[in-house]
Amino acid sequence: MLHIGFVLPPDNQSFLPFRNQPLTPLYIFTILEEKFGDKLDLSIIDLRGVRPENIKYYLPEKDVYLYTAMTPDYPDICEVKGLLNSIYPKALHIAGGTHINLFPDKSLQVFDSIVLGEGEEIIVQIIEDVLNRALKHIYKNTKLIDLNSYPYPLRKYLNLRAIAEKGLLRGSNISSFGTNVLFSRGCSFQCKFCANLNFGPVRYRAPKLVEQEIEYLKKEYGVKVLALKDDNAIPLNKKIAKSFLESIGNTNVKWRGQSRANGISEDIVKIAAEAGCSDLGIGIESVSPKVLKIINKKIDLRKAKEYIEVLKKHGIGTRLHFILGLPGEPNDIASRTLDFINEADPKSVILTVFTPYPGSEIFDSPKKFGLKKINPNWRGYQSAFGRFDENEKPEMMFEYESMTPWGKGISNEKILENYSKLQAILRERKLIF
Ligand code: SF4
Repeated sequence: MLHIGFVLPPDNQSFLPFRNQPLTPLYIFTILEEKFGDKLDLSIIDLRGVRPENIKYYLPEKDVYLYTAMTPDYPDICEVKGLLNSIYPKALHIAGGTHINLFPDKSLQVFDSIVLGEGEEIIVQIIEDVLNRALKHIYKNTKLIDLNSYPYPLRKYLNLRAIAEKGLLRGSNISSFGTNVLFSRGCSFQCKFCANLNFGPVRYRAPKLVEQEIEYLKKEYGVKVLALKDDNAIPLNKKIAKSFLESIGNTNVKWRGQSRANGISEDIVKIAAEAGCSDLGIGIESVSPKVLKIINKKIDLRKAKEYIEVLKKHGIGTRLHFILGLPGEPNDIASRTLDFINEADPKSVILTVFTPYPGSEIFDSPKKFGLKKINPNWRGYQSAFGRFDENEKPEMMFEYESMTPWGKGISNEKILENYSKLQAILRERKLIF
């Protein structure tokens, strides 16, 4: 039997590290179990919340360790890999994920094998190669997978208490058990600050499969609340939106997700509300039309406010996302953002400071956006600050030139001042999510 462990890094950046269920490992394990049955022993090595000095006590011996790396957790993943290597030198280490795709050469110096592209199609081949002692250094899948060809991810590989938890929705649903789901991949927009590697056509799971997965979560784990992790939980295509939302509605759950600020009509909002949508996060990003144009956000602020009103009319709460420090930002962004918040009157706000994530156009072409330097300390690439200590200041991972293509570059001091000022007001008003 081949013993495989999927490593979940410590995630010391999250206030609630168990709030996000790790769907990628669950998809991969479900596929492997279906294909290989009891030839494999599959387990998740869940290090979330484990203090760095204690990690060594949580590392069981396996033949193969798998990893999926985003940029902020890459340093932790490398450290865990190093520890495992020193304790179990014969084991193999295979990694995929966004950061590996962006930096394949450097990743190959750390791991025995790397996976480029979506992993579902190729993981069976990789494990067959391991069983045949013929593991290659690089596996590449250039095709977009058909989401409907794969089963929903079984949650049983996680500790029972890590599958669903209370507090995913507030108000009357606060004590209901909830969990994360992902029913689509891709985004048809191309915001310049976004590190989404899934640009292109949006692929949705078929409504029947959406219903099946939710019914499984309800039956096995008592789930009544969902957080949709899809880039756009309300599809922009009306026909798809209708069948997608109705399939969720058939299951009688309550849910939250993310939505574009424009382009969704009231009849679809009504269907979303009837389908149990309770809250939507909306990426406004900036209240400066100039900034929105530079980052290619393709939203209209007036229409965004109208959309928020429509959502409220149908009983859907809004959580607005803003990023301070984007290219072209004016010095008075804090007061302008506050004016927007006062008018829109959202249920909550998430305020972050811009981070030029690898994979985004801004990271790839900093000069074009007036950035003088980018700090490659990946540990600082996080978007949530002040989780443990409200006085914690965001780490600035970049600096603007004094003169940018849009005039005088905003200074890091000013960005932090705007952030602190606005964050303090939001905290006092209990608007922080
Ligand atoms: S920020 Fe949102 S809308 Fe823009 S490209 Fe990324 S996922 Fe798509």
